[in-house]
Amino acid sequence: MIKLLVNQVKVPIEHSEADIKAGVEKKLHHKIKSFEIRKRSLDARKEPFYVYSLIVETEEGKHLLSKDVSIYVPEDLHPKYEKRDKTIIVAGYGPSGIFAAYRLMEAGFKVLVFEKGKRIKDREADVKRFFETGILNTSSNVQFGEGGAGTFSDAKLTTRIKDKYIDYILDIFVKHGADQKIRYENHAHIGTDEIRKIISSITDDMAQKGVEFHFEEEMKEILLDEGRKIVGIRTEKGKYLCDLLAIGLGHSAYESVKMLKEKGVHIENKDISIGFRVEHPQSFIDARQTNSIIEAANEYFLRYKGEKGVYSFCMCPGGFVIPAMSDEDTIVTNGMSYAARDSGVANSAILIQVFKEEFEDGYAFLHDLEHKAFAISSSYKALSQNIADFMKGESNPLIFDSTYPLGTVLHDFNDFFSEKDCDILKQAFLDFDRKIPGFIEKGIMVGPETRSSCPIRILRNEHFQSINTPGLYPMGEGAGYGGGIMSCALDGIRIANELILNHG
Ligand SMILES: Cc1cc2nc3c(=O)[nH]c(=O)nc-3n(C[C@H](O)[C@H](O)[C@H](O)COP(=O)(O)OP(=O)(O)OC[C@H]3O[C@@H](n4cnc5c(N)ncnc54)[C@H](O)[C@@H]3O)c2cc1C
Repeated sequence: MIKLLVNQVKVPIEHSEADIKAGVEKKLHHKIKSFEIRKRSLDARKEPFYVYSLIVETEEGKHLLSKDVSIYVPEDLHPKYEKRDKTIIVAGYGPSGIFAAYRLMEAGFKVLVFEKGKRIKDREADVKRFFETGILNTSSNVQFGEGGAGTFSDAKLTTRIKDKYIDYILDIFVKHGADQKIRYENHAHIGTDEIRKIISSITDDMAQKGVEFHFEEEMKEILLDEGRKIVGIRTEKGKYLCDLLAIGLGHSAYESVKMLKEKGVHIENKDISIGFRVEHPQSFIDARQTNSIIEAANEYFLRYKGEKGVYSFCMCPGGFVIPAMSDEDTIVTNGMSYAARDSGVANSAILIQVFKEEFEDGYAFLHDLEHKAFAISSSYKALSQNIADFMKGESNPLIFDSTYPLGTVLHDFNDFFSEKDCDILKQAFLDFDRKIPGFIEKGIMVGPETRSSCPIRILRNEHFQSINTPGLYPMGEGAGYGGGIMSCALDGIRIANELILNHG
């Protein structure tokens, strides 16, 4: 039996697995035993068709080699295992922390993980209780806990980054239960129900292989020696020594950021975005005119370039708008969907840029908006308005109920965001309505959404280390180096690779 990499297998848009097999056999003039899809792309220059790259198992095969057919030699993206004597602490167990810890474990380091939130099973109960009753646990919620912020999400795996370690990440997801399709589908998504099982399985696997997990144990302080080098961390339970510290704390860890600032770690402000979710009947989105082969009919990506940029973000077809706050007396919306994406309602964030010159302290700026929304609502009900009413400055009953589980309170967003931002948002809506006719008339706004990006960057040098705190490796969204599951996971791997190379 031999494994071949076969490129350029062309099949019609509508096809079955049997058609792919037939396509390979036709290309090779040879029967195959099995195949595994590695990549799929669309050729839409004329009559559209799919082009596959496949790993094929067949008897014999050397005579089949050609420019499109080679012996399959898998590139081993896993690090070489050696018993290494350094202890590394990973604080924060979102995508960046998970993949940094996983890779460091594979390389043979002693790895300790500290996560302020709970394991997924317990976290699920806290989130469910909040969605049903409005009782918030500030350490265990949509932002905090095993898996990080991406756990109660659509788990879209899209990223514009091209990196060979994307395959490494997807392989680990598939090994722990994800559908093979995530390897090759455009706009692949896992769904909140599936990602929770996958992350739990990864954690169990790592624990079994020797990673020491400390859930419900928040890093309260970094410990430095006289030369400002990291020597450990302090939690409520005690001190833990380490040689190196990788922190992936997410965009909501403002208290930890305050502590890092007090410790003198160099941190700068960066631009952010704010906005709200819009919801439309999914049938309305599906029915618009698109080239549904190139662009998934159920999703849209909108962008308006005015004095400030306005864009759609993190669209959740067939999803739900959810309460994503981690602080009491605040309102923060976000979106999630189950693998089936069958709620019947499409939601997406619509965000407007806020430049760092517009605030002194980005966290304070965002918290003011979150508290202001709560003060208006007097509860965890989100603010809502028909888009058409926002355009006219009116307030009428919603044209349909929001999916936001705690209910909403009607409010004119013209009184919520600055006049200038509202003017730009209205220009953007007019532009979106030209692109998707009916976007204004058929949609509602639910908000505010304030946690789509982190207002700070922890400065790193060319070795990804804090510029003034040796041994400290900031990573992921909360450090200003990613946004989204894949980019943050890749950043965690980048940090792990650096530690393996220079500290192994
Ligand atoms: C509701 C929702 C839906 C989303 N949907 C998608 C999506 O579909 N696709 C996508 O690509 N992205 C999505 N995102 C964004 C994505 O989840 C984040 O970009 C990503 O999780 C960031 O990864 P991270 O590792 O940097 O940090 P996070 O995932 O935020 O994880 C940080 C972790 O650190 C922990 N922590 C914080 N402080 C401490 C401390 N002092 N000590 C110990 N632990 C600490 C937190 O509890 C948290 O678990 C979504 C986000 C949300 C909130």
